Amino acid sequence: MAEKKIRVTVWNEYRHERNVPEVAEIYPKGIHGCIAEFLSECGDLEIRTATLDEPDNGIPDEVLDNTDVLIWWGHIAHAEVADDRVEYIKNRVYNGGMGFIGCHSAHHSKPFREIVGATGNLSWGDEMHEIMWNMKPSHPIAAGIPDHFHLDMEELYAEPFYIPNPDDIVFGSWYESGHIFRAGCTFTRGVGKIFYFQPGHETRKSFYNPYVRQIIKNAVHWTAPNDFGYEIKNEAPRVDSVVEE
Ligand code: ZN
Repeated sequence: MAEKKIRVTVWNEYRHERNVPEVAEIYPKGIHGCIAEFLSECGDLEIRTATLDEPDNGIPDEVLDNTDVLIWWGHIAHAEVADDRVEYIKNRVYNGGMGFIGCHSAHHSKPFREIVGATGNLSWGDEMHEIMWNMKPSHPIAAGIPDHFHLDMEELYAEPFYIPNPDDIVFGSWYESGHIFRAGCTFTRGVGKIFYFQPGHETRKSFYNPYVRQIIKNAVHWTAPNDFGYEIKNEAPRVDSVVEE
C-alpha cells in the first residue's frame, strides 16, 4: 500500500523578491520556490506553494482543508493577510491538527501571533555571525543536526522574545554581539503542532544551509498531524461499555 503523503503548502509574501534585485538574485524562484525545491528531496511530501497576491491570499478554504503542514514566510505585508484566512488557519491548527511552521519574520505574522497567542515582539539588530546551538538533541526536529553549526550572516533576533513558554526550545542562537535567542521553539495548540525557526532573512542565504534545510524537513514531519482515526469533536466521546450498576 502506498504511504500517505504529507501535504505541504509553502506560503510566502513574495514581495521582496519582486521589488529588490539583491533578493531576487538570491531567491530567483522566491523564498517559497527555494523551500519547495529542497523539500521535494523528501519522497513522502506533496508540495504546493501559495503567495499573498493570489486570490484569497493563495490559501482559500479548499487549499487549507487539504494542507497537513503550512510553512509561512512574511515580513513587510503582514497586515495585508485577510483576517478570515488567519481565522481559518487557526481553526485548522487547533481542530484539524494542521502543522504550522513560522520562518524568520513570521514571528510578527498574524497567523503566528493568533495561533500561539502573543505579540511575538523581540529585539533585533544588524546582521552578524550566528552560531545555532542544538539544545535538545533528542527532539525529532534535531535529528541529524550537530551540536552546533554556523550561519555566516543573519539578522540579529534577540531576547526578550515575547512568546508563551514553548513546549521545547530545540535550538538556541548565539551572536557575536553576545546576544542570545530562542531560535527554534515548539508549541502545541488544540490538536496542532507549531514550530518557529529564526533563520531566513531575505538578503541572506540561510535557506541554502544544509542544516537549516534538514531542520525544516524534520519540522514538516514532526508538525504533520497525527492520524487520529476518528473525528475530533468538542464534546465528550462516548464510552463503548460501562460498568453495570
Ligand atoms: Zn529579516
